[in-house]
Amino acid sequence: MLKVQDISVSYGLHEALHGVSLTVDRGEIVVILGANGAGKSSLLRAIAGISDGKVRGAASLNAQTLTEKKPDSIVETGLALVPEGRGIFGALSVGENLTLGAYPARARAAEKENLAKVLELFPKLKDRRAQIVRTMSGGEQQMVAIGRAIMSNPDVLLLDEPSLGLSPILCQELFHNLAKIRDTGMGVLLVEQNARQSLAIADRGYLIENGQIIGAGSALELANDPAVQKAYLGASTS
Ligand code: ATP
Repeated sequence: MLKVQDISVSYGLHEALHGVSLTVDRGEIVVILGANGAGKSSLLRAIAGISDGKVRGAASLNAQTLTEKKPDSIVETGLALVPEGRGIFGALSVGENLTLGAYPARARAAEKENLAKVLELFPKLKDRRAQIVRTMSGGEQQMVAIGRAIMSNPDVLLLDEPSLGLSPILCQELFHNLAKIRDTGMGVLLVEQNARQSLAIADRGYLIENGQIIGAGSALELANDPAVQKAYLGASTS
C-alpha cells in the first residue's frame, strides 16, 4: 500500500537520510527504530510532504505518487501524520480538533462513522468533547492527535514518537490502542524509541542508523536479535 523507494533528504549540504526504502501494508504495524538524530522524523516528514529539506526518491500510496504532491493532497490520497509534539490546536476543544480532522474531501462523507470509530477507540474522549485540549494530560492530548488523524480517513497512519512524555501506564494504553487501530485494517508506520513496547505490538520493523536502513525483519526476529537487544532493549553487553 505505502511504498517508499530510495528516499534521501538533505538540509543544505548535509544529507540526513540516504536512500531509504520500505513498505507498509494494509493492517500491519511497521516500526522504525533508531537513535536520536538517526533520521526518523526526516523520513516521516518527507513521506508526508512537509520536509524542510530537499527530498529525492519516490513514495507512493495505493500506486498513486506522493512525492511532489502538496501536504493536503497527500492527506487526500490517504496518508495522515501525527507529528512529534502532536500538531493539535491547544486552544480549541476536543470536538473542534476532531471536526477539523475531517476537513479533507475524502473524509467528509464518512465523518460520522470515523467519529464513532475514534470514540470507540478512545472512549475517554466521549465525555471530554467540550474540553479545551491544552488543559488535558499528555496521554489525553495524544489520543486527540491520533483521533484527529483518523478523522481524515487515512489508509496509512504515520506516528512520530507518540509515546514521548507519557507515563508507563499511558504508554501501555497507547500501544494497546495502536494495535486496535491496526485491527481496523489501517496500515501504521510508527517511529519509536520505546523499542520493547513497539516491537511487542508491531508486525515488522526496520532499523535506521545514520540515515540508512541497516536491518529489517519481523518484530519477533528483531526482538530476538542480539544487536537489537543490545542497542534498544537494554540487554547487557557481556
Ligand atoms: P530524534 O529522535 O532526535 O527526533 P530523528 O531520528 O527523528 O531524531 P531527525 O530529526 O530526522 O532524526 O534528524 C536527522 C538529522 O537531520 C539530524 O542530524 C538533524 O540535526 C538534521 N535535521 C533535521 N531537521 C533539520 C532541519 N530542519 N534543518 C537542518 N537539519 C535538520
